[in-house]
Amino acid sequence: MTDSVILLPLQATPDGLRLQQYPPAEQWDDWVEWDHKAWPKKAPRRYRLVPTVCFNCESACGLLAWIDKETGQVRKFEGNPAHPGSRGRNCAKGPATLNQVNDPDRILFPLKRAGQRGEGKWVRVTWEQALQDIGVRIRRAFLEGRHNEVMYHVGRPGHDGLMEWVLPAWGVDGHNSHTNICSSGARAGYAFWMGFDRPSPDHAHANVILLISSHLETGHYFNPHAQRIIEGKLAGAKLIVFDTRLSNTASMADTWIAPWPGSEAAILLAIANHLISTGRYNREFVRRWVNWEQYLQALDRGELSRAPAAGGRSAFEFADFELALQAHYAKYTFEFAAQEAGVDAAVLGKAAPALALKTLDGATITNADLTGRTVMVNFWNTWCIPCEQEAPALTAFASQKQGEAGVVLLAVVRADTEDAVRRHPDRAPKGWTVVLDPGQQAALGFGTKGQPETYAIAPSGVVTSSKYGPASVGELQAMFSAANRAAAPR
Ligand code: SF4
Repeated sequence: MTDSVILLPLQATPDGLRLQQYPPAEQWDDWVEWDHKAWPKKAPRRYRLVPTVCFNCESACGLLAWIDKETGQVRKFEGNPAHPGSRGRNCAKGPATLNQVNDPDRILFPLKRAGQRGEGKWVRVTWEQALQDIGVRIRRAFLEGRHNEVMYHVGRPGHDGLMEWVLPAWGVDGHNSHTNICSSGARAGYAFWMGFDRPSPDHAHANVILLISSHLETGHYFNPHAQRIIEGKLAGAKLIVFDTRLSNTASMADTWIAPWPGSEAAILLAIANHLISTGRYNREFVRRWVNWEQYLQALDRGELSRAPAAGGRSAFEFADFELALQAHYAKYTFEFAAQEAGVDAAVLGKAAPALALKTLDGATITNADLTGRTVMVNFWNTWCIPCEQEAPALTAFASQKQGEAGVVLLAVVRADTEDAVRRHPDRAPKGWTVVLDPGQQAALGFGTKGQPETYAIAPSGVVTSSKYGPASVGELQAMFSAANRAAAPR
């Protein structure tokens, strides 16, 4: 190996050629770079790049320790591109690991208190002495039945559950850590319902990402998540952020909601109620994986409070569970959440999806064309008999709205061809603008169940209500009025 610096070829990326970001792995054992401190002299310096892990938070991102082959000292830490989680990208704390290695105040060996507590007097002891001292004390406590006097406290547990085996084996219940206080609520929830500790969702391929006070820019253990959340957003995912302040993350969101601190759970309950009451959940998944039989049995034994509408059914069928669940969640309406969270109920409803609808004249209607107007969107098609039954009500409703300012009525063709629509103009509701939904993007975005289905969108762009199946003129009018009344988001 010579001491000459290797000029790497440019790196091909989807956006074109760029400079290489990392030395190639096959040269990590002996990598040569000019010493920047010797500039303008070109002095080569040789490094061994050793993969290691950042432990400044639980993400445990990959790092490369750049070890000077001459001095044997770590000169710097940079990202490890081969790490599957961080992929070479770290937050600022990763490279700052060098400070911990070189900090003159770091504790290099065990110290034992030599004076009164707080007196600041310490003597250096060996590891052998330290372990012996602690081990004897713990053993004596066990022999004397004082298990309760042994407590294990750790800052950030990084032992992957090892102490959860050791401590119970000792009969010790005293395990405390930062995590007990900081994130145990959320983590206990994950553990109870899925048996995992903070799983990583597939953010990069998500359609909607909801962040509850998760600040991507501040690092923490969300760095690997943050990378993928941004990838998902670049791929078209909608980003919704709950945050009491306009954080940098919130400023990048499609929808920013600022609830009162601590009221987020009320919003989540309302979302759950919405999903349950509109049947927008994976029924088969719930049937297979949720202990619904036990839930119904507990209801029957009176161990759980029974919502009034759940009735006194004794059959233990999944449909009974669904009814019980509907009744249990029914009180968590968006209005309830709005009151708890101090956020407009219409804002807590669903924001309209990104729209690019084609009129039969070839024009395109997008969300920008609809902002500030009250919009009714009806999904229909030429071969649907319930759509045919609904059409007179749509036509009558349109004639009521004729000439009214700020009203848009869109009849979106779902699962049908443009040719069929042109051949059957009489089947389209009169007074509504017929639009095509190429690729059914709008239908998917709204989460339609079928046709006919009607949505009301407030001037703020939030979907305030929907109706699956033929709607009457009265229902259409009620939906329209509620959307029209809904205030713009704050
Ligand atoms: S997110 Fe930052 S602090 Fe946490 S492990 Fe990664 S580089 Fe280290």
